This record gives sequence, structure tokens and C-alpha cells, in this order.
Amino acid sequence: MRELTYWYERRHGTVATIALVRDLPPVLERYIDRSRPALGLLASTWYPSALCWHMCDRVIETAHDEGREIAREAARDTVPRMIHGIYKALYETLASPELYARHVGRHWKKLHDTGERSLVIRSPGVAMSTVRDWGGHHPLLCWMTIFTMASLFEAMRFPEVTVERMQCVAHGAGECATLLRWRE
Ligand SMILES: [Zn+2]
Repeated sequence: MRELTYWYERRHGTVATIALVRDLPPVLERYIDRSRPALGLLASTWYPSALCWHMCDRVIETAHDEGREIAREAARDTVPRMIHGIYKALYETLASPELYARHVGRHWKKLHDTGERSLVIRSPGVAMSTVRDWGGHHPLLCWMTIFTMASLFEAMRFPEVTVERMQCVAHGAGECATLLRWRE
């Protein structure tokens, strides 16, 4: 949430970022500091889903694609910064399709308090990514997960990385599933 908020502030400025928490329920106010960058959100703190959903709803308020394009742009900007910054060591544990498939479930649990994530390689250059039982699911966060994965594969220097979302719990499916393709 912090990285997404930092990106939003870089892209849209402080006034628009503060507007993401307008009409925030009073019980959520204690997580927010409007005088600090990225609303004072911290990398190492767990935030209630209600806060993330409130902000995500605002981010995609005028979008017509559940935030798909916003997520794509945010991931392309954020992921290269993260893997050259404080997440460099973490990225090195994910830096091939095989490593990503092996470790993504474990990394997911460090970043989310619900949900089971997996990536299954079906053939060279084709894999299925799934998330299930994700209590904190939001369409924008679902697209962020998808495009973060795509940007990480682009960082592995594969050309022609594409994603095709097959199903999403926002549309009544039992789990979210995305077909990932890259050229070996
Ligand atoms: Zn989804």
C-alpha cells in the first residue's frame, strides 16, 4: 500500500493523494498522517483492509477497467525502483521463472495476512498464476499483483511478457487466475 501511495503521490501530487482519504471512517484516521509523504504509511506496518479498500476505491473512481491501466503504469514505475532499492535481496530470490514459482507463495505471506499465491509453469514461457482465499482482495490490488509479476519478469530481461486474466473473484470466480506468457 505504501509503494502504491508513493507512486500515486509522484504521479498526481500531494493534494490528490490527500483526497484518497477524504471521508475516511474515523476509526481509520489513526493510520494516516496527512503532513507526511505518502500519507505517513509505513512499509513494515499491517493496515486494515478497510483502509486499503477505501483508498483503492478512490484511485479507480474514474477508471473504466477496474484499475487495470493504473496498475500497469504503477507497477512499471515502482518495480524497477524496488528491485534496485531495499528489495534487491528479495528480488534475487525470485529472479528466474523457476525461482519465482518456487518462492512466490512464501513471499506473498510476508506481504499479505490472507491468501494463497502460486505460479505453476506449464511449458517454457507459459505459466498460470493464482490467488485464492484472499480476504483483502480488491480489483485494483488484483491488477497490481498481476502487473507486479509482469514487471518482475520484464526485469528478468524476457521480451514480450504478456498477462491475460482468466478469472477474478470480483466476477464471482472461486479464485483469481492469470495466464502469464514470456519469450524464453
Ligand atoms: Zn482478482
